[in-house]
Amino acid sequence: MSFNKIIEEVYEKVRLIGNDGQLASYIPELANVDSHKFGVHISTIDRMAFGVGNYRDKFSIQSIAKVLSLCLAYQILGERIWSRLGVEPSGTAFNSLVQLEADNGIPRNPFINSGAMVISDILVSELDNPREDFLSFIRGLSNNLGLDYSERISASEKSVGFRNVALCNFIKSFGNIQNDPNEVLDFYFDLCSLELSCKELSELFLFLANNGQTLFDNKAILTKSQCKRINALMQTCGFYDESGEFAFKVGLPGKSGVGGGIIAIHPNQYALAVWSPKLNKKGNSYKGLKFLEAFTTKSELSIF
Ligand code: GLN
Repeated sequence: MSFNKIIEEVYEKVRLIGNDGQLASYIPELANVDSHKFGVHISTIDRMAFGVGNYRDKFSIQSIAKVLSLCLAYQILGERIWSRLGVEPSGTAFNSLVQLEADNGIPRNPFINSGAMVISDILVSELDNPREDFLSFIRGLSNNLGLDYSERISASEKSVGFRNVALCNFIKSFGNIQNDPNEVLDFYFDLCSLELSCKELSELFLFLANNGQTLFDNKAILTKSQCKRINALMQTCGFYDESGEFAFKVGLPGKSGVGGGIIAIHPNQYALAVWSPKLNKKGNSYKGLKFLEAFTTKSELSIF
């Protein structure tokens, strides 16, 4: 059966189930999103593209951006980044402080907030104009000049970002943040505020299904080995303390964000983006997870 047909069928099935979960109301602006939005878009390395529902609407990608900042830091510093953070699933919530004390300020992985802050610190050190240079990097991944930050979202998150402020200062106290914490936090809030549609997201992430190379101009963003490692991290750490469940039920590398988006990668095949804003208790899109589980079950394709 073709991907398009499976996507249509699964979308219709999941559209009709109860819209369980909650909006991420801890960021005031995210509570204003229409909770009934639901979109899906696939981009394949055979250059097939297909979307259903609200796949052209832009939404706040939040933590999905952590994959992109990691890719840029990895491209610049190579394996040296792993002296500053680990590659183990944390088994704790995305904004947890507890392990940092015992781990001396070394975050368990780059996808929890603490790890993403260390990556942000690296980029603040390495880039001349972090905000602009990071945007140019992601625009170049799919040749899309329409990608941008949302000042509305970053200001909203900043106004209530006490926990992230605490996390960044705590890591700084162990010496694992080198810049001014306020500068690092501003960059972190900016990258979480990026707004993309499912279509744009799946086009953007296609290089991770293509051995680290962009499809439209064959540019090597990462080496084959680095790309494999990013996918491995998404598989083991992409859904915080629900990463095991995602591997169990979906079987693909993926990354979620509290805006309700999920990107899933099938190496050598496709990048698939789903968006439904209501989240389950672990902060992952309720319908997004249901869609991906049914999609990989029906297509009988996963990495396992
Ligand atoms: N910006 C959000 C935060 O720092 C990102 C969290 C997420 O998407 N899981 O709380």
